[in-house]
This record gives sequence, C-alpha cells and structure tokens, in this order.
Amino acid sequence: MIDQSDVDRFLKRVTIDGDNEKIDCWNYDGCTIPKGYHPFSWDCRQSYAHRFSYIIYNNNFKEPPKGLYVCHTCDVPGCVNPNHLFLGTAIENNLDMKNKGRINPAKGDQIHTVKLWAQDVIDIITGVYLNVEHVCAELNITDNVVYKILRGDIWKDITKYYDLEKANKQLLFNPWNRPSNVVDIGIVKLIKIRLAQYHSPTVIAKDFNINRNIVYSISYGNSWKHVII
Ligand SMILES: [Zn+2]
Repeated sequence: MIDQSDVDRFLKRVTIDGDNEKIDCWNYDGCTIPKGYHPFSWDCRQSYAHRFSYIIYNNNFKEPPKGLYVCHTCDVPGCVNPNHLFLGTAIENNLDMKNKGRINPAKGDQIHTVKLWAQDVIDIITGVYLNVEHVCAELNITDNVVYKILRGDIWKDITKYYDLEKANKQLLFNPWNRPSNVVDIGIVKLIKIRLAQYHSPTVIAKDFNINRNIVYSISYGNSWKHVII
C-alpha cells in the first residue's frame, strides 16, 4: 500500500526542469543507478522513482500489469514527469539510449492540431473512457482522431504496445453504448477492414454486437458505399 508519507517523500525531491510542468522533465533529487534511474522504495519494496510517479499519477495508485515496464518518452531515464511515462514491454524497456529516437512518442505530443498527451492516448486505449463520444468530450478532440488512434494510424509508437482490438471493442462495440441497429463511420471502417480480411459477416456482427444484416448490407455495397478503407 502506498500512503501519504510515501507521496510526500517523493514530492519533496521533485523539481520541474522549466516552467511548464506538463511539458518539461521533472528532476528527482536522489541517487541514481548506472542506467540513470532513481531508486525509490515503498511498502518494503525496492523500485524506482519514475515507476512510483507513474503509479500515483497515471495508474490510480496501482501497480502496472505484470510484464509491463514504466518507460520514458523523453530521453531522460531519471525524469519522473508522469506525462513522459508510459507502459511498455521488456523489449522496449531494454532498448538503449541510442535507439530512443525510434520510439519517441513525443512526436505525437508535438502535433498541435491533435492536442493529445502520450498519457491521453494510453487512457483512450486502456479503457478509461466509456465510448468515443466520451473521449471526444473529455479531451476536446474530434472522433476522427480517436478512430485514427484505434486503427493504429497515429501514435503508433505507443499503440503498438497495446491491444488495439480490445480497445476498439471497449470504445466502439460495448453493447451498453449503442443499440444493435446503429453503426457509425468508425465502426463501418473497421467492419470493412474485417471483410477485406475475409472474416465471416456473422462473426463480425457478433463481435461488434450489431445486426448481421447491417454487415451483409455493407459487404454487398448497399450501404456506406462512400466509406473507403
Ligand atoms: Zn522527461
């Protein structure tokens, strides 16, 4: 269990490297291990300051799922800015500094028209939101951006580490979100992708919790003809 004294102990050592706490790296004033991380322990457990930061700011005080590591979008292993932290696999965690550029999701942060943080993208694909409308309302972005993320067209550096199919189901096909006779352009695109991969319309209908006739109609080109994948 993390308690307030752990959080206080952590925050006492944090300084922000600039005047924008969302963008700038957060320094942690403590000893470092050779890889540049700062050891930090709580609950009788040895861990790292950046991991602690991720847990308290981004993960509701819970440990990340097994097998996932807290990685940096910036090139600063000691940085504890939660906006620079995301979950990745061991493979990614082991990438050394010279490879960092290849996986730098800060690129996404810099697309001003998108107005998203790495953490927003992670939230979108890890089930924080109920549906697409909820995402759009909370993050003030268009549904088109959400669909692009869900298809893996943008923010690939982050989304490649997550189960996008599961994210799609959560946001688009949750039976509580949408009646079975209603589809929107995002769903139609995904249906078309599945059809192009020769999935059975019956299976697709079941997966997306929609009426099978809708899938047939799309498949025959009787509806949503204008939607191109
Ligand atoms: Zn940083």
